[in-house]
Amino acid sequence: MSECGVSDRLFTIRYKCDDKSHLIIKERDTCLSCKTKDCNYFCPSDVYEWDKKQKMTTVAYENCIECGTCRLACPSHNIHWVYPKGGYGITYKYG
Ligand code: SF4
Ligand code: SF4
Repeated sequence: MSECGVSDRLFTIRYKCDDKSHLIIKERDTCLSCKTKDCNYFCPSDVYEWDKKQKMTTVAYENCIECGTCRLACPSHNIHWVYPKGGYGITYKYG
């Protein structure tokens, strides 16, 4: 029996990266006081990571698969989420 997890599915998409992020952290201080850092766990593409040295959430927007989770799941609603500009972002390959 073959397995098909998230990592397998990530091989079925293609990215075209914009040079500007479509994912914006609204308030850096809100992340600083956020105890749970949920975004480091709920994103299936590991876009968000807490940088202890810089004391900020880094955003690897190039890896976003546009699932929309972060527009709802940040407990402080501290992520401004829009789709990438037309022509950018991901393309799903089927079959
Ligand atoms: S984006 Fe939201 S979940 Fe992530 S560290 Fe900031 S406040 Fe916390
Ligand atoms: S839309 Fe989904 S994949 Fe993109 S950053 Fe948010 S949680 Fe991660």
